[in-house]
Amino acid sequence: MRILFATSEARPLIKTGGLADVSGALPVALRAIGLDCRLLLPGYPAVIAGCVDVKPVCALNGLPGDVVANLLEASMPDNGMPLYIVDAPELYQRKGGPYQDIAGHDHPDNALRFAVFSKVAAMLAASDTPLDWHPDLLHCNDWQTGLAPAYLRLSGETTPSIMTVHNLAYQGVFPRANMSLVGLPPESFAIDGVEYYGSLSFLKAGLYYADRLTTVSPSYAEEIRLPALGMGMQGLLSTRGADLVGILNGIDTEEWDPANDPHLPHKFSARSRAGKQRCKSKLQQDLNLEPNKDAPLFGVIARLAHQKGLDLILAVADGILHRGGQIALLGTGEKVLEAAFRDLGALHPGQVASVIGYDEGLSHRIEAGSDIFLMPSRFEPCGLNQLYSLRYGTIPVVHATGGLKDTVEDGVTGFVFEEPTAHALWLAVDRALRAHADKKAWKRMMRAAMSRDFSWEKSAREYEALYRSMLETA
Ligand code: ADP
Repeated sequence: MRILFATSEARPLIKTGGLADVSGALPVALRAIGLDCRLLLPGYPAVIAGCVDVKPVCALNGLPGDVVANLLEASMPDNGMPLYIVDAPELYQRKGGPYQDIAGHDHPDNALRFAVFSKVAAMLAASDTPLDWHPDLLHCNDWQTGLAPAYLRLSGETTPSIMTVHNLAYQGVFPRANMSLVGLPPESFAIDGVEYYGSLSFLKAGLYYADRLTTVSPSYAEEIRLPALGMGMQGLLSTRGADLVGILNGIDTEEWDPANDPHLPHKFSARSRAGKQRCKSKLQQDLNLEPNKDAPLFGVIARLAHQKGLDLILAVADGILHRGGQIALLGTGEKVLEAAFRDLGALHPGQVASVIGYDEGLSHRIEAGSDIFLMPSRFEPCGLNQLYSLRYGTIPVVHATGGLKDTVEDGVTGFVFEEPTAHALWLAVDRALRAHADKKAWKRMMRAAMSRDFSWEKSAREYEALYRSMLETA
């Protein structure tokens, strides 16, 4: 089976969030079970500089905005995963991140940038593909690839497509005036089409035109059909309910392996946990926290966004400190939250360490050195950090939503609370603190958490079954 996996970010080349982790790992897991999966990525500077074995394939003509682009083929530097790259310097070769400039403002031409990317995905999957490799199926991810199923379907192509929603909150909404720029027929600007509350939504296009829809956990697949978490798409998603499934993400168990993690000062495993205690002491030292091995250390790693419920953590922080706990936070994002956590750190030196920034090595060391991980997300499509926490024996405290609910077992591998309120979080933190004080109970929970299997192979098999069912009915 030949699968073209179109994504706007993939580890280790370019990452802003969980999408990059999935795109870096799922295609590799699909290849490992015998599928011929290849990635399609935009040619950002980090992608061009980081990939290997780059060769030109062809010029790409007929793109939105008459953009000049070339298709390259290359490989991932770490595992040889085959890549196609859309090399369009005027769109992708610029400073800043994939979606925003250095000042944190969206690139003003994002509609064109990702219309072109989507168009190339559709061209490569079409019957007259310029490749000597014809994909059986196009797998699209998030709004940046949302127009691809629309281009395919509206040009009468029959290659089936999947739209995977990694986070419904990001919808690629642009003014209607972009319709002619992106090259969609005016009649597709309708409820049964790409129109979304008077604007053009790239995600809606994908959700409407793709043959099948997936999201990254079974619970989130249910939640997004309802108004509370449907983000305005609930009508379409419930109409398409029969085509929508949730497949839980896995984690990269080689990258996140406490027994073999190059970021850690000491290694450990479910059977031999002494290294974890040493990781904690080293973390306390590195972050200027009091060197107290009995103090329950709470880790937090997150994009500092409303979604992640960090205001709830701020609300319970005093309670945690009062009970002798420590907090180690790593994150960047909304300025108000950055300032609030900086202030908390300044107010409680030795007890709270707030590191504002993006630091992969430190994220591994916090996962390893913490006792408890806080993840009170208001919604969470799948979530990765609670999975890393389980694997590192760091007991997660999570809100019962989406993938958090599907992966953390209350009282067995973690603590789960029902309402996204400070009070409910506090009650769960209190339970975690009591359990932490009981060495036997804590050891039992750590062992249970570390024994859970979230490797990608299981998820890859579910995607394979979905692809097969689509090709049978195509
Ligand atoms: P989301 O995709 O919504 O940000 P996930 O939990 O699915 O949330 O994935 C977040 C990923 O980004 C994880 O791999 C996490 O470790 C990483 N991450 C988030 N913030 C930081 C940071 N400041 N430094 C290092 N890694 C981070």
